[in-house]
Amino acid sequence: MIPHNLPTLGMEEQAAAARVLASGWVAQGPEVEEFENELCRFLGLPDGHAIAVSSGSAALFLALWALDGKNKLIGLPVYACAALRNAVGLVEGKCAYLDCEENGPNVDMAAAAKAGVDILIAPSMFGIPVDLPNARDYLLIEDLAQALGARVGGERIGLRGELGICSFYATKLITTGGQGGAVISRDRALIERVRDYRQFDSRKDTRLRFNFQMTDMQAAVGRVQLAKLPEFVEQRERLFGIYANAGLELLGPLTASMQPVRYRAVMRCTAPSRLIETLQNNGIRAIVPVEQWELLDEPEKYPMASRLASTTVSLPIYPTLAAGDARRVAGIAGDFA
Ligand SMILES: *Cc1c(COP(=O)(O)O)cnc(C)c1O
Repeated sequence: MIPHNLPTLGMEEQAAAARVLASGWVAQGPEVEEFENELCRFLGLPDGHAIAVSSGSAALFLALWALDGKNKLIGLPVYACAALRNAVGLVEGKCAYLDCEENGPNVDMAAAAKAGVDILIAPSMFGIPVDLPNARDYLLIEDLAQALGARVGGERIGLRGELGICSFYATKLITTGGQGGAVISRDRALIERVRDYRQFDSRKDTRLRFNFQMTDMQAAVGRVQLAKLPEFVEQRERLFGIYANAGLELLGPLTASMQPVRYRAVMRCTAPSRLIETLQNNGIRAIVPVEQWELLDEPEKYPMASRLASTTVSLPIYPTLAAGDARRVAGIAGDFA
């Protein structure tokens, strides 16, 4: 069976985890700090501007909390995962659901401006950079969970708003051994607020904080994965090229200045369930990337998101997928293009 997705974990990750276990220090410590700083260097930030946490969801909550999200109107796309709604709920903000842009999976920025949101969560879905306006009158959180390493105008994205968040869950571009996340920002004051929140133990005041820490064992695995990310991105790009060359209509960036990372190979298709079934019969697992029932609000109110949910299939794409297997997938999918 060719799975839809697979983390790429090797001997180096095993050795890194074993090294931490043998050291006797497994909680948040020096490995987490190194991982944070390596993430900063990857993104072009000064050291100390990333906070590693236990998940992307925790990172989203912390970003919203740092911006005083309680009772604020928080814009989020309906075409996204429940983690966004959960974070808004935990911070006690008010959800303003938004449709997709006309021809892509990202949030409709015009709708965000019209909704009068105080804060916007803007994911770059499937690794395709979200197209952000030059001027805005709301605070912005860039959700990089699916797009770590993507660029706009040559610059790595994630830092175009007040804060950004990463996820290192098992299925993302890199993983810190199953779960993990990070908050990033150019703004040192915001980063220090998040750091203080994460440092929940042995504090002399009575302010509420919470344990969202990453462990050194996770961070050690993450360091190896981060070093491999450019290679992963290249391998994914090659596989994406196989699908594109086969004539499949794939979701991609809307402007030439955008350099996506191929987190997902999502093809437009008029009969998604028939394609998924046919692939399944050939030992290949494909999925609808965001299903109709997964939309975060009533589908009929969001025509773009609704149409995308009913006319797309996500094909297998992960660094260790063999080129020959991708060609076989492309051959079958080509009949449904
Ligand atoms: C995965 C994901 C998250 C949540 O990250 P977790 O680490 O799974 O909590 C948030 N936003 C987007 C766009 C994601 O894909």
